[in-house]
Amino acid sequence: MTELLSNYLGGTPVMGSGAGTPLFDPVLGNELVRVDATGLDLAAGFDFARRQGGQALRAMTYRERAAMLGAVVKVLQANRDAYYDIAMQNSGTVKNDSAVDIDGGIYTLGYYAKLGESLGDQKYLLDDEPAALGRDKEKGVAFVSQHILTPTHGVALLINAFNFPSWGLWEKAAPALLSGVPVIVKPGTSTAWLTQRMVRDVVEAGVLPAGALSVICGSSAGLMDQLKAFDVVSFTGSADTAKVIRSHPAVTERSVRVNIEADSVNSAWLLPDADASSDSFKSLVREVVNEMRVKSGQKCTAIRRIFVPEAIYSVASEAISAKLALLAVGNPRNELVKMGSLVSRAQFNTVQQGLAHLKTQAETLFDGSTLSLVDVDPAVACVMAPTLLGARDPNSDLIHNTEVFGPVATLVPYKDLAHAKALIARGEGSLVASVYSGDTAMASEASLDIAFAHGRVHVITPDVAQIHTGHGNVMPQTLHGGPGRAGGGEELGGKRGLGFYHRRSGLQVSQSIANTMKVST
Ligand code: NAP
Repeated sequence: MTELLSNYLGGTPVMGSGAGTPLFDPVLGNELVRVDATGLDLAAGFDFARRQGGQALRAMTYRERAAMLGAVVKVLQANRDAYYDIAMQNSGTVKNDSAVDIDGGIYTLGYYAKLGESLGDQKYLLDDEPAALGRDKEKGVAFVSQHILTPTHGVALLINAFNFPSWGLWEKAAPALLSGVPVIVKPGTSTAWLTQRMVRDVVEAGVLPAGALSVICGSSAGLMDQLKAFDVVSFTGSADTAKVIRSHPAVTERSVRVNIEADSVNSAWLLPDADASSDSFKSLVREVVNEMRVKSGQKCTAIRRIFVPEAIYSVASEAISAKLALLAVGNPRNELVKMGSLVSRAQFNTVQQGLAHLKTQAETLFDGSTLSLVDVDPAVACVMAPTLLGARDPNSDLIHNTEVFGPVATLVPYKDLAHAKALIARGEGSLVASVYSGDTAMASEASLDIAFAHGRVHVITPDVAQIHTGHGNVMPQTLHGGPGRAGGGEELGGKRGLGFYHRRSGLQVSQSIANTMKVST
């Protein structure tokens, strides 16, 4: 029997009473550890977090909580090697891909630690300037409306997807903790080990108040039932589970605030000014290959649809395929390997099914199954090389509404700008689109035109080709989320990321009271 990992709830480690769900190495196939949440006293654990964790956090100023995040960063940095080891074993990722998750999470925490320091020694935030409601000219007094943001007096339940066990935790926990709201995280089960280990290290280091951070691994049963009026739930995962969350009585009856990050059929768009010899074309090819390779395409922001002018459909297909053919795909323990594994057998099967489904409406331009895999037993390993599809008929439904959560993307030809915009909009709301052009006026207009359907538009013009942050990289400075099928959520975006964990109230007060609320930072 492998080790059964403990949950952390009520300020202490607690074991589930069941046999546990095994987590596997997706490359070698062996069982690694088990997780279990059977029999936990969820009501007491949530209550402890609300009372002990919440009160202690709210007693601190933003600057003090920022310092606390800084201390969390130090704990995580001290244990980085263990995290890389867990990621390779449990997620099957090469070192660079583990970095996106592990160092990406630590960077996001560090970013919010800095931001928190700039918010100063206060315990609430002002929202905009006061607006006058009434005046007594004789007495020289005014009655004003001043909006303020105060931390919600509940817990933040974070229900996360399997693909980012580290970043997925910290990109939500950093703004929550900085806001003064305790966190209970329920990681995606197949890769829960890394989340559990990070929470364990941070709790045991004693750098957070008791109850500020909890982790429940394994079944999600009963979690939503615990939520009360001032709690919030932030969900990342599939559209199907999102529906379950949205329709739970906690949301429909108790008005628990919910943020949903769901699936997304993201686009890369080469504008018509760019021909096959342009820098923009080279940038597009580089980004597409990168997005298919990194974490084997298991990124919510990965490029799924590639829009190119129809005149260069074939040359784009050849250029992307030539680079995909050079990728070493296989066992992340082999230093030559640049692309590792999918996270589980279930995920491998789902991706293969999704690919077969897409192929009913698309041609295969580069067939990943023809690549030899490095250092793996294909009967055991959940390793899959990238496949590029092409949709000569850009009107096919499936390419616009099917997210295959793996190394699969579809090249789509378009006739003109209006045609491309209409096709991109058929994704019905995405997390991100990238735009590639050497014509700054056209790039600016195109990005404004598609912004309504995207949480983020990443524009790559030749002047920023070497310094941009990458189509799929989520930076804490910029909003993460997207309308429509992407879930309608908003995370990060600097200080905006704190909004979800605060309550906005309008105070109608004398100007003299409003003046006392202006705390300098
Ligand atoms: P999933 O099956 O929907 O699971 C997401 C989380 O919800 C997991 O922790 C899961 O637990 C939990 N869960 C399942 N049923 C639940 C229920 N009835 N009540 C409460 N929680 C429940 O999604 P996934 O397969 O892990 O992730 C892949 C999907 O996530 C993809 O569609 C991808 O696009 C999306 N994603 C989106 C973003 C984004 O930021 N927009 C980021 C990453 C991934 P178990 O693991 O125990 O089932």
